[in-house]
Amino acid sequence: QLETLATTDNLTGLHNRQAFEVLIGQLMQNYMRTAEIFSVIMFDIDDFKYVNDTFGHLTGDLVLAEIARIAKARVRGSDILCRWGGEEFFVVLSDCVLAHALSLAEEIRIAVSDGKNEYKGQKIRVTISAGVAEFMPEETIDQLISRADQALYAAKKAGKNRTFS
Ligand code: GH3
Ligand code: MG
Ligand code: MG
Repeated sequence: QLETLATTDNLTGLHNRQAFEVLIGQLMQNYMRTAEIFSVIMFDIDDFKYVNDTFGHLTGDLVLAEIARIAKARVRGSDILCRWGGEEFFVVLSDCVLAHALSLAEEIRIAVSDGKNEYKGQKIRVTISAGVAEFMPEETIDQLISRADQALYAAKKAGKNRTFS
């Protein structure tokens, strides 16, 4: 039970950052052995500070949990979905090329923007932006994460509620 607590994010039930570090290490070892292609998605809630400031932190927590639920329903059991930071999520998609990762990110993005828009009787329109990257042989995990992060940044700059690679 303690082990679960230490590796699970309370609010969303997703892997936390510590668990992610272990799982990604295992995945890299597997990659060295099999050279199986994989891709990653980093996504971040748009204007989440506004949600908190306008509707309160507890409502913000409900939004976070709902977005985690939406993402979880769309990834496979073999994928790694983690709460990366406060309102940022990271997904590792095993056996997945860039084009497929892009379409999954779009599926999640659209499900969020078309999904639940009422929390505690208040109308709240929630969107996310996503950055996607496919692992390139020879690069480090940090380089891969950085490329996904840059794509996410570009999606934000281009107006949010979109997916870039
Ligand atoms: P952007 O569209 O550029 O991403 O803007 P943003 O407002 O989403 O980003 P910013 O980094 O300014 O604010 C993120 C907010 O997320 C601020 C922080 O209080 C909130 N946050 C982080 N973790 C939690 C949490 O666990 N619960 C709640 N309710 N809010 C959180
Ligand atoms: Mg953020
Ligand atoms: Mg944000």
